Amino acid sequence: MSDLPERLSLREVGPRDGLQNEEPVPTAGKVALIDALSATGIGRIEAVSFVHPRAIPQMADAGEVWGAVAPAAGVRYSALVPNLRGAERALDAGFAELEVVVSASDTHNRRNLNRSTEESLDDLAAVVDLAHDRAASCQVIVSTAWGCPYEGDVPVERVLSVAGAALRHGADSLSYGDTTGMATPSRVTRLVGETRSAYPDVALNLHFHNTRGTGLANVLAALQLGVADFDASVGGLGGCPYAPGATGNIATEELVHMVEDMGVTTGVDLEAMIDVARQAERLVGRTLPSQVLRAGPRTRTVTATPIREV
Ligand code: ZN
Repeated sequence: MSDLPERLSLREVGPRDGLQNEEPVPTAGKVALIDALSATGIGRIEAVSFVHPRAIPQMADAGEVWGAVAPAAGVRYSALVPNLRGAERALDAGFAELEVVVSASDTHNRRNLNRSTEESLDDLAAVVDLAHDRAASCQVIVSTAWGCPYEGDVPVERVLSVAGAALRHGADSLSYGDTTGMATPSRVTRLVGETRSAYPDVALNLHFHNTRGTGLANVLAALQLGVADFDASVGGLGGCPYAPGATGNIATEELVHMVEDMGVTTGVDLEAMIDVARQAERLVGRTLPSQVLRAGPRTRTVTATPIREV
């Protein structure tokens, strides 16, 4: 385990990816969640997305949420955008870090963004240029990087070609999204390895959903290849109980709990993150899937009560 990264950069995506896949919650609750996350030691928070309110009503109050958040020193906040209009809104709201999403699967891209992957890649160049003109950075997220619910497996060559186009268009970094939880450790090893061979200097973030229980195993496979940048959502937010098969991201506190015990630093206060997971549960009004939230960290002990003599 000696060649694992010493330190991870984690991005908390519960307020965006999580809440966008839950029943809508009040604006004040979103603001309180982001502010609580800001106090856990996490380095980055994806706060909102600027999407059309008809497409994702859960994010209709993105501007209000961001206007009410108290930005913390030492935390980088970002916004996800689907297109140029969303990028303009995010930049006008004051974000200096954008993420723009394109799907490696054409069918998924059409369902999600109403156009082909090729058309999204053309639009993406304008988004990156606009971000740079306004002194912001722009990450390109390649979603369905390990598979598509409509097309099945997405060939590695296809993902590499979409990633290559994003880099040619000026993307500052890349993220691979396992949107529907189809990644397994061997598939992570292959895609990350081939990405490193094709684009040795790329800054790469990985975004896993725990849909099929392989989330943390996928993280371990990536850690062993030196990947040090992951998304996670507090409590494992994001599996809407009304959308069959929808499952949240890997839970932030589970990721922190595992890697810190392996000697990998995250900067996150685990107990504080567990407290925020409890807050997230109250916010969405349902039990969240995080097992570290249920059981507590492995170092937590209970007081032994004397056995009564009979
Ligand atoms: Zn996601």
